[in-house]
Amino acid sequence: MTCPVSETIADIRARVARSRADGLSVALVPTMGALHAGHESLIRAARERCGFVVVSIFVNPTQFGPGEDYASYPRSPEADLEACARSGAAVAFMPQPAEMYDPPSLTVVSVPSLSGTLCGASRPGHFEGVCTVVAKLFNIVQPDQALFGAKDYQQATILRRMAGDLNFPLEVVVCPTVRETDGLAMSSRNRYLSGGQRAQAVALHESLLLAGRLAGQGERSAGRIAQAMREHLARRAPDGRIDYIQIVDPDSLADVDTVDRPVQVLLAVRLGRARLIDNMRVDAARPDR
Ligand code: AMP
Repeated sequence: MTCPVSETIADIRARVARSRADGLSVALVPTMGALHAGHESLIRAARERCGFVVVSIFVNPTQFGPGEDYASYPRSPEADLEACARSGAAVAFMPQPAEMYDPPSLTVVSVPSLSGTLCGASRPGHFEGVCTVVAKLFNIVQPDQALFGAKDYQQATILRRMAGDLNFPLEVVVCPTVRETDGLAMSSRNRYLSGGQRAQAVALHESLLLAGRLAGQGERSAGRIAQAMREHLARRAPDGRIDYIQIVDPDSLADVDTVDRPVQVLLAVRLGRARLIDNMRVDAARPDR
């Protein structure tokens, strides 16, 4: 079982136009390929919501910084097309970089106040690359709904804001993080982990659960919660290098000192070649969500 492929902007537009003429609503699931069960859950959710699901598979060069893993990012097109087909995609949009960036985009889309913190602090230019390519995809496909994963919480927050600020006529839908049975958030970059690193990687999710437990037990200091997470990671993932652990307002992404309302706890940890991210909503009134 495989999925039809569209490689050009003209072709995907024609396919979307035909589906609209048939009365189908259109969903877009943007991805960089190397699809796993997390991506498949987005495609399934899209299919439940809309009659025609476009999955874009494009390793976007402009969101990778110098020295990052653009060249070695995992690519598995055949398996991806099978995953698209079995989870209900109608077509995979797989443009070559030149189709998207020749001539190069001189226009940059940016949400500066949400992009300088968290992952944006250690990946300058990353979210400008993400926003610009997603804005292009929105204009190319013109979907009714676009689905993103909560695993990339800052990205989803930025893109929702971008879509609203720029009046894209579509709904941004954010779907829950899909995890391995031990709690590790699924990610294409988990393939970079050695066996030993994979065993340590579970500490990210454990540290988020710890944050939820501490808040549930009445700890109100974001600093002390972050410190407890740091200590847990040092114990359980000794090879991990913490990029950040932050407790922020779920909408503004501004740091929170006192956990007296729902907050978002986010972390990024480098483990070998992989930079892993995860996050969780912590609501002291409803621990361990
Ligand atoms: P990527 O291919 O990593 O750019 O991800 C494409 C989309 O899949 C983004 O909206 C991600 O947030 C989402 N995604 C990635 N991993 C997961 C996961 N474990 N659970 C749910 N969604 C995910």
